[in-house]
Amino acid sequence: MNKVHIVGAGPGDPELITVKGQRLLQEADVIIYAGSLVNPALLDYAKAQCKIYNSASMTLQDVVEVVKNAVADDLQVVRLHTGDPAIYGAIQEQMDEFKKLSIDYEVVPGVSSFLASAAALKQEYTLPEISQTVIITRNAGRTPVPEKENLKSLAAHNATMCIFLSVHMLNDVVKELIAGGYKEDTPIAIVQKASWPEQKIVRGRLNDIVGKVGKEDITRTAMIVVGECLDTDYALSRLYAPEFTHMYRKGTDSEGK
Ligand code: SAH
Repeated sequence: MNKVHIVGAGPGDPELITVKGQRLLQEADVIIYAGSLVNPALLDYAKAQCKIYNSASMTLQDVVEVVKNAVADDLQVVRLHTGDPAIYGAIQEQMDEFKKLSIDYEVVPGVSSFLASAAALKQEYTLPEISQTVIITRNAGRTPVPEKENLKSLAAHNATMCIFLSVHMLNDVVKELIAGGYKEDTPIAIVQKASWPEQKIVRGRLNDIVGKVGKEDITRTAMIVVGECLDTDYALSRLYAPEFTHMYRKGTDSEGK
């Protein structure tokens, strides 16, 4: 029996899928893609006779039914999710269904949008002595967030934060971040459709970003990135310091030896 491949499509740019993901799309007989976010240009990799389903209008049971029938016919199935499937991909429930039906499956990772956003911003999230931690989270919406992970308490770390699924609640997000301990002038950036041709970036500070974003009509498919890393002097990385010895390079001592 063929395996179902759950594939990360990457953030949008069709060249940002993995080589393995692209090959699986080329070989697939059936592709079920998350139409609300996956770039349809990726479907150009599919064979002419490939059957393509947009999961935006399907229930979990519909998806499982298509997969079950395709696998029974010995067809190759790709379930295509945006970014990396492990981040807000709702794949656990699919995998549980596959397990129940003894359908074999494999996950192929993808470039998550929080990393495509860093690339768009030309920004390293982990700057020495500024932040060595990246928090991936979201504001509570229709899907609740466990109380002990609320934005306010996460904000207390002043780490670099990438907030998914929340740009339409930016006002609330900013209030929570400030209440939690970020300074009002902490830099923040909103990246809409990172890696797509229509990518848009709005930069500001916690105390002015809401007004700036309001003018740009950004309400979905955007990443909120907040943290001092976006605007700061930082200590140079030890990794490339001349005197720093590590597994692959012997450093010089203080006399330059
Ligand atoms: N699995 C995906 C996330 C799915 S949740 C991933 O790893 O990226 C959907 C949210 O992801 C959107 O609300 C938005 O916050 C973010 N997102 C997805 N694609 C994006 C892109 N190209 N640019 C910026 N944010 C994006």
